[in-house]
Amino acid sequence: MSYTLEGRTGPWEIVVGLEVHAQVTSNAKLFSGAATAFGAAPNTQVSFIDAGFPGMLPVINRECVAQAVRTGLGLKAQINLWSRFDRKNYFYADLPQGYQISQYAHPIVGEGAIEIELADGSTKTVGITRLHLEQDAGKSLHDQHPTKSYIDLNRSGVALMEIVSEPDMRSPEEAGAYLTKLRQILRYLGTCDGNMDEGSMRADVNVSVRKAGEGYRTRCEVKNVNSIRFVMQAVEAEARRQIEIWEEGGTVEQETRLFDTARGVTRSMRSKEDAHDYRYFPDPDLPPLVLEQNWVDQLKASLPELPDERRARYVAMGLSPYDAHVLTLEKETAAYFETVAKGRDAKIAANWVMGDLFAAINRTRTSIAEPPVKAEYLGVLLDLMKDGTLSGKLAKEVFEAMVETGRSPGAIVEERGLRQVTDTGAIERIVAQVLEANADKVAEYKSGKEKLFGFFVGQTMKAMQGKGNPALVNEAVKKLLG
Ligand code: MN
Repeated sequence: MSYTLEGRTGPWEIVVGLEVHAQVTSNAKLFSGAATAFGAAPNTQVSFIDAGFPGMLPVINRECVAQAVRTGLGLKAQINLWSRFDRKNYFYADLPQGYQISQYAHPIVGEGAIEIELADGSTKTVGITRLHLEQDAGKSLHDQHPTKSYIDLNRSGVALMEIVSEPDMRSPEEAGAYLTKLRQILRYLGTCDGNMDEGSMRADVNVSVRKAGEGYRTRCEVKNVNSIRFVMQAVEAEARRQIEIWEEGGTVEQETRLFDTARGVTRSMRSKEDAHDYRYFPDPDLPPLVLEQNWVDQLKASLPELPDERRARYVAMGLSPYDAHVLTLEKETAAYFETVAKGRDAKIAANWVMGDLFAAINRTRTSIAEPPVKAEYLGVLLDLMKDGTLSGKLAKEVFEAMVETGRSPGAIVEERGLRQVTDTGAIERIVAQVLEANADKVAEYKSGKEKLFGFFVGQTMKAMQGKGNPALVNEAVKKLLG
């Protein structure tokens, strides 16, 4: 059953394509040596090139090119060994050059694909149209002074990858899943940090609606949406607006819109410009960018394991597809899990990470990057259960103590005397005391009240302060009652 929105005239299908601007992780800008660190004081990371001084010549940053190629390989895309930089001309106060250096007709990366995972467990392939490199603009600050606007050029010239998808998504959920997966791939690759609240990933959302079986109708572009949740909301709000226009007999005009996050609606920003408005032409300061296949092959050989492959490997280790999905969402979670699971039972390790550890992270407001319990310690805790030192119940107790104190499981077991009792003689002596103290209940049990069995086990465990090996306690109770 595909997703539709209901209008007066019946169901409507949504068509979504996304253009994502992802900031390249690199120490220096695309064409200058200025730094790119987030949060620096305004205008402290600006070279003459970034400030658009006359006569300055851009020089391409090799690492930014490598990052774009890595990303293209991670998106299973065509790498174009020959690409070219163009000038995209427009005037704006935060664009001192008067043009943006971008790639228009010949991008560095061509067609690729991303497989997205949906809540019902199904997957879907979304096509990638292209990826090109371009410069970011500066930033205008309108809220620093009552009558003046300020300009911060720190971001001017920072390398961006513009990643354009095919219009393959059909619901807000699919748009959200696409962005989630794209961000996950970029983070695994280390080519963009994916921090949307710092502006390192921003999405332009192209939305149109249509009746089943139709071709595409006119689309509108919602600019610069900066969270996955807002993208999903913008898709739905914009689709509803268009449905209303069509149903009232109007025509949707192609335009650029903004998403008002407070009111949950899109509003017009400007009529959509076409490519010819920008008068693209090849940048005369830059020769074509020519890559050697050999270099691309080296980058490919050194790519890290990507989320899809890692998920498949976890399933092969015996995890459910769901567990494998959750554990690979963040690469820090995957690394933690692998440390715990190394040389141990993968399923048990997954249960502890997704259960007790995630709960402890929530409770202590920490993160998997700075976990409340070290992965090595959780691994040792599993060993202590396996060799019989700790029962499941005692292990939980030790785990909580680890969260509180940060100490190793071995130290906690010794300090608190939590070692599990596996001496059958000692267990039987305590069971005998319990039965003697509860002679009336023993009589009831023997006359058929069998559910009292659990009571004897419970009393024995209580007398042993929870340290009895549960299987051995059960056996002993059975033996002495019988
Ligand atoms: Mn762009």
